[in-house]
Amino acid sequence: MDFTLTPEQVELQKRAHDFAAQEIRPVAAALDREPDPMKRFPWDVLEKGSRLGLRTLALPKALGGAGCDNLTLCLVGEELAWGDMGTAVTFDQTWKISHLFDKLTNDGQKERYLKSILEDHRFHMAVGMTEETAGSDNIIPYDSPDAGVRTTAVREGDGWIANGKKRYISNGGIAKLCIVAMRTDPTKGVSQGMTYFLITPDMEGFRYGKIHEKMGQRLSLNAELIFENCRIPDENRVTEVNRAMEARRQFFPGSNIEAAATVLGTARAAYEDALTHARSRIQGGRPIIEHQAIGFMLADCFAEYEASRRLLHYAAWTVGQKGLYDPKMGFMTKCFVSESSYRIATRALEVWGGTGYMTDAPMEKYMRDVTSFLHSDGTNQVMRIRSMKFL
Ligand SMILES: Cc1cc2nc3c(=O)[nH]c(=O)nc-3n(C[C@H](O)[C@H](O)[C@H](O)COP(=O)(O)OP(=O)(O)OC[C@H]3O[C@@H](n4cnc5c(N)ncnc54)[C@H](O)[C@@H]3O)c2cc1C
Repeated sequence: MDFTLTPEQVELQKRAHDFAAQEIRPVAAALDREPDPMKRFPWDVLEKGSRLGLRTLALPKALGGAGCDNLTLCLVGEELAWGDMGTAVTFDQTWKISHLFDKLTNDGQKERYLKSILEDHRFHMAVGMTEETAGSDNIIPYDSPDAGVRTTAVREGDGWIANGKKRYISNGGIAKLCIVAMRTDPTKGVSQGMTYFLITPDMEGFRYGKIHEKMGQRLSLNAELIFENCRIPDENRVTEVNRAMEARRQFFPGSNIEAAATVLGTARAAYEDALTHARSRIQGGRPIIEHQAIGFMLADCFAEYEASRRLLHYAAWTVGQKGLYDPKMGFMTKCFVSESSYRIATRALEVWGGTGYMTDAPMEKYMRDVTSFLHSDGTNQVMRIRSMKFL
């Protein structure tokens, strides 16, 4: 086993860390409190990050990106989320969809969007699946014609007419390109009746709806995607008709692992702040870190952080190794790391005592942020259900 990072990985990790320290952290806490979601969205920071090359890290070199592998994306994602989880998620979502864009779109589609993706520092992407009556049913999937995505695309002439509504979609409201799953055969379950389409905000009959208010990850946006007789040209169809689920399984293996990297970055920030506080806060005549009750909690934070990080790096490494990737490793890494991160943030808040509960301390934001990944990217119950058949 060789855990040494390549010089390129170390450089990118440092670039991301410096960026998080200098650009993300100074504004994140104040923006988090801004009530208007559009005003709190950190456009300036995201643009600066894009100019540093962070936005296009996941696009292959042949398409003009940095061609980073899953492990490198995890290293960068952890550093960005150490700065602020919402900001990291906006980048990570665009990375995840870059994988889909690379693997699923044809040459004509690439030609239409690639120039803008590369040159427009505000070009972020989204993937739309979840709906009011269809959350986990799309992901497990519960494969009945009566369950899953209800947004339909019906063939008409040389295109499709789409109707329906997505919700909770990350980067919704600002994404310039969305890959959206629609039901194209209502007589089949989602595995055999769903197709991906490319959607841009200028398309007639499509609009962004409500921006959802969230307890954490508040510097990222989640929105509704609304389709009202939206006409989609067939050239925007991404997969073979009814084959979206198959394509997602085949080409999207590292998604849960990348998600785990962002939640871990926030947990690390909480742990570090807990250490700092425990060294300087005096009670019982000495720094509280010298009381076993506090020292034990910090030692547990250390162990859970390190265990999570090793698992995450191993899982991410397997994504690029032929024949080594194991789906349950991806699902359970997201479960393990998000639940460890939740415990780390909870202990870190306790180390700060009552002060940690006050909103001018950093700890409550960490708690709110880490909670998101118990549910996002598929709930942890669903991750376990999906793992079962691979045990
Ligand atoms: C921050 C955030 C970002 C998101 N970003 C996106 C995005 O970009 N794109 C997108 O499409 N979606 C996105 N989502 C939606 C997310 O994928 C769904 O919220 C998630 O899949 C759960 O769906 P649901 O909320 O409808 O919960 P439900 O499916 O209603 O689940 C409710 C509870 O029931 C449990 N449950 C459900 N089915 C079963 C079962 N068969 N057996 C046992 N237990 C079950 C679940 O684990 C959960 O505890 C995002 C969500 C969040 C919170």
